[in-house]
Amino acid sequence: METDIFRQRKIPKDALCEICNRELSSGYCELCGRLVCNTCSKQVGYSLVCKECLQRDPKLNAFEYLREFIRRRSLRIREFSHEHMKKILEIKREKPNEFIYVHLGIDDTDSPFGMCTTYLGARLVEFLWNKVSFIDYPNLIRLNPNIPWKTRGNAAIALRFSISFSEFKNIKRSIVEFISNSAHNFFRNTNPAVVLFYSSNKNLPDQFKSIYYKAVRDLFSVDSVLSQLRKINFGILEIYAYKEKSRGIIGASAAIGADLLDYTYEILVYRLPKNLSSKRRVYSEDVLEMDRLLDFLSYDNVYKSRILITPHGPDPVLFGIRGDFPEPLLAGFNLIRHESFDRWCLFKTNQGTNVHILDIDHIRVASPYLTVRITGKLTLDPIKQDGKVIIYLKDRKGNQFRAVFFHPTGDLKMMAAKLRKGDLVSLVGSIAPTSEDNITLNSEEFFTLSIMPEIVLGNPICPSCGKKMKSKGKDAFFCPKCKFTIKNKRKLITLKNRIFPKENIRYTTPPSAHRHLTLPKERIFFRLLKVSRVIKPYLLVPFWGKTKVHPLELVRAPLL
Ligand code: ATP
Repeated sequence: METDIFRQRKIPKDALCEICNRELSSGYCELCGRLVCNTCSKQVGYSLVCKECLQRDPKLNAFEYLREFIRRRSLRIREFSHEHMKKILEIKREKPNEFIYVHLGIDDTDSPFGMCTTYLGARLVEFLWNKVSFIDYPNLIRLNPNIPWKTRGNAAIALRFSISFSEFKNIKRSIVEFISNSAHNFFRNTNPAVVLFYSSNKNLPDQFKSIYYKAVRDLFSVDSVLSQLRKINFGILEIYAYKEKSRGIIGASAAIGADLLDYTYEILVYRLPKNLSSKRRVYSEDVLEMDRLLDFLSYDNVYKSRILITPHGPDPVLFGIRGDFPEPLLAGFNLIRHESFDRWCLFKTNQGTNVHILDIDHIRVASPYLTVRITGKLTLDPIKQDGKVIIYLKDRKGNQFRAVFFHPTGDLKMMAAKLRKGDLVSLVGSIAPTSEDNITLNSEEFFTLSIMPEIVLGNPICPSCGKKMKSKGKDAFFCPKCKFTIKNKRKLITLKNRIFPKENIRYTTPPSAHRHLTLPKERIFFRLLKVSRVIKPYLLVPFWGKTKVHPLELVRAPLL
């Protein structure tokens, strides 16, 4: 059905729910892999499951049963494709010199039953270690967090290295085979792709950067990515995939284009394959202590003694520690006791940078699946409904919209409930995937631009002795001290500054509700220093290993 929303807001048709074919999907069913809308699916714990799968086995409605089902299914995964990805596109715009720079993008290799593109990247680093010279850490690039096609956190990987052209020709095929051998291509919604760009020039064609910014802030189609890539004016591009229009091409090209003006690091520690199906063993008290010791050098480790560094699914990640500099993360890793691990790898990332937010000045330009920042004035006092707080606003052009604060947003929701009619806020939120005409923002943060004073009604002051008068029935007051009486006088209106929320303050979700790209408060200062290039990145080598190392054992090299 061609609803207005598709025409007005340019939503790709493949975002439609594959069950009702009417509503926009909010993700895919973790069991059958079909894209489903909120009406045709149910959130069971962390997983989205379609109503048809639930009808087939109603026990899947229970989170523990579903988790166990996914765990057992992940143990049976032996269905890897024996076929390798094929070259689906080659564009040659130069004859390379003997020495080349290679940018390798990978995406869409995992399924709800396991694997993780970062793990594949970390293993590929080992495979390439003695064959190439890395010019950057492996890049872990998060893209638009709201798209329905993602498995978990919409991550893609880019590896950047230099190598002799003749050597590269020898290893190119094995890189593609290496990735093909691990991708969960058997799953309906996994569409892996490898994008290779190489040139004697160290720079990238501008098209990659624009693909990155669109992929992190907007919706993309494979066709538009390919048509942009056809415009590159130097270098050589090769794309490998199973299908001509494999969706992974979007993320793999975007990861190459990530310019990381602002950046953070994450050390990811991976599980031994034999432990993949058991419960993760990480000492919580060590994580709490590490968080205390690293302070603002690391973020999002714990929230109210809840450990946030371990994921919950069947993926190979044991835990990840995030922060602005690589050394404290290695030090933090040394402080934690945990089960034996397979390997660790340091990634340079766009996490924690808020790069996904699109600034808009009126709500009519917003489309579902985007995260926007918009200024709005409250037209009513907040409304509390089913555990949510809802505020109604008008943008600068007078268009109405609403913003919802859900339960997990914790303190942010509490602060939103204290907003009042007339307050002016700059709101950040993702546009809910609905074909309704009413635009709803699922709020992630707000900044208070102007807060209306509180109106307080008080009794008048006695004109005779200056004491505060007391009420004596309708519109009449008397002075308790000198007994002076006045009639036909209304209560006095006084304005008082409200205590909460304060003006010019950024209110955000608690770490437990942060998205990978959310800018945490610990980073505000470092972000300024990084964006202004006062702090410059450098390379610590080796940035991966199979045993723990002390940060001082690593060599610090300038980034080329
Ligand atoms: P993991 O992080 O564990 O690797 P994931 O959550 O990153 O999994 P993917 O399996 O990579 O999920 O699936 C995301 C898919 O969406 C990829 O094919 C990617 O190319 C595509 N994609 C990424 N950004 C956009 C976008 N802005 N518009 C359309 N498609 C996108």
